[in-house]
Amino acid sequence: MKKKDEGKVDKVIDKLSESFEDNRLSTKKTDLLSYSHDYWPISLHWMLEDKFPSIPNAVVWPEDKEEVKEVVRWCYKGRVPLYPYGGGSGVLGATVPEKGGIIIDLKRMRSLQVDDQDLLVEADSGLNGYYLEDSLNEEGYTMGNIPQSLYPSTVGGWVGTKATGQFSTKYGGIEEMLKGIEVVVPPGKILNFKPHPRTSTGPDLRKLFVGAEGTMGIMTKGWFKIWPYPERRIKLSYASERLEDAVESVRKVMRRGAEPAVVRIYDEMETKRHFYDHEDIYGKIATVIIIEGDEKIAEVEREIVEEEFIGEYKGEGPVDHWLETRFNVKEASEFVPMGVVFDTIEVAVNWSNAEELYERVIESIKPIKGVLFASAHASHFYPQGICFYFTFAGTPPRKKDAESFYQQVWSEAMKAVIGSGGTISHHHGVGRQRKDWLEDELGGGLKMLKDIKEKIDKRDIMNPGNLGL
Ligand SMILES: Cc1cc2nc3c(=O)[nH]c(=O)nc-3n(C[C@H](O)[C@H](O)[C@H](O)COP(=O)(O)OP(=O)(O)OC[C@H]3O[C@@H](n4cnc5c(N)ncnc54)[C@H](O)[C@@H]3O)c2cc1C
Repeated sequence: MKKKDEGKVDKVIDKLSESFEDNRLSTKKTDLLSYSHDYWPISLHWMLEDKFPSIPNAVVWPEDKEEVKEVVRWCYKGRVPLYPYGGGSGVLGATVPEKGGIIIDLKRMRSLQVDDQDLLVEADSGLNGYYLEDSLNEEGYTMGNIPQSLYPSTVGGWVGTKATGQFSTKYGGIEEMLKGIEVVVPPGKILNFKPHPRTSTGPDLRKLFVGAEGTMGIMTKGWFKIWPYPERRIKLSYASERLEDAVESVRKVMRRGAEPAVVRIYDEMETKRHFYDHEDIYGKIATVIIIEGDEKIAEVEREIVEEEFIGEYKGEGPVDHWLETRFNVKEASEFVPMGVVFDTIEVAVNWSNAEELYERVIESIKPIKGVLFASAHASHFYPQGICFYFTFAGTPPRKKDAESFYQQVWSEAMKAVIGSGGTISHHHGVGRQRKDWLEDELGGGLKMLKDIKEKIDKRDIMNPGNLGL
């Protein structure tokens, strides 16, 4: 940050420190370093190399919408960059404060209220994902949004990134759950879009903040659809000879209108990696399925799955194994410090191009010098298509640094996705990693998005640089 800009930030920090007592505004180095990265492998790599190219000047923790408004107002006045921050579990650098400025961490805003008759929960944006779902379960409900990052993520981050959970095939993505939203936009205005079952009142402005990744405003709370806690849960698993068989089976299930909550199909390599204690399915394609909800509806869905599935039935064991291990993530912390480059890329595609996309992405990554493996599972399903979640690992060849090796893999994968008619992200978002492919993705609409952002945020304070905006 330039010297003259440092002066502007200091003035804003001085102003804020008049209202935010010591423990709710920090300029301590340890805090600034903690907020300089998220789970984006590039930003984790910076830390290993002892490089900190993006450090904020301060972190502030508001407790209500009025305080959020005050922070936005001062940052706008002083032209200081402001980065909304939930759990910092994003994987694409969306909270990396690339231009310095202030991080606004919403985690102190965490109340919730259930409306049983309307089946809605009103939730503050800083509410922790696990806490929300656990509280709902205790009261006899579920929201059904269970991302693998349930423990470290927040409601505001879910909306900001347009997240989806492991149970999305029944409950949908966060955009389908969100019924109303309250946001603070520059120069410091509160907008309140009330929840309705549906409304036909012009373009839906709520959606402007879903997936905006902190570039349009700050969500302070939202109203979300909830469901009665499922009275019945049915666990099924299959081993198929070919990936196409499993994929085709699920396509037919979805076409008939059945909606299992969880469906996950693992390619041969991932079957072995994930189901290490089920040797009988090595060399096959494992599928785990959970059907849940009303007893009678669940039984009908089970019949549909049993009628359509091409593969050998393997009972509940693999599903129990998946349930026990589904939050385990150790690759980044175990392998990255050893110099292994590791990441995941989730994309979506219509059924008609699903097979081609899977093959092309795997074939685009594998031949890259240094790649150790590329594999995938399919984790979210729709009557129209499927989400593939690719994983790759490798060690950069000599004379190539980790960052350019990483970007080479990403670039080849993105080209293969676009070339096979897919979308470059299913649920992680764009952040700072995918921004260069957004133009292609939006079919000529990037300029319009930039214009909208400019109108809302004339001084470009909201998460500048994210999404390439
Ligand atoms: C191990 C692991 C597993 C994961 N599994 C999944 C998964 O299953 N499904 C999935 O969808 N994602 C997954 N993710 C990605 C990540 O957890 C999600 O993107 C999540 O929604 C981020 O929430 P967060 O609170 O951590 O947001 P952050 O990382 O803090 O922020 C993400 C973005 O949202 C913006 N933002 C945050 N709060 C607000 C707010 N109140 N108002 C406006 N903008 C805001 C930020 O500015 C940023 O652009 C995973 C990540 C990890 C590390």
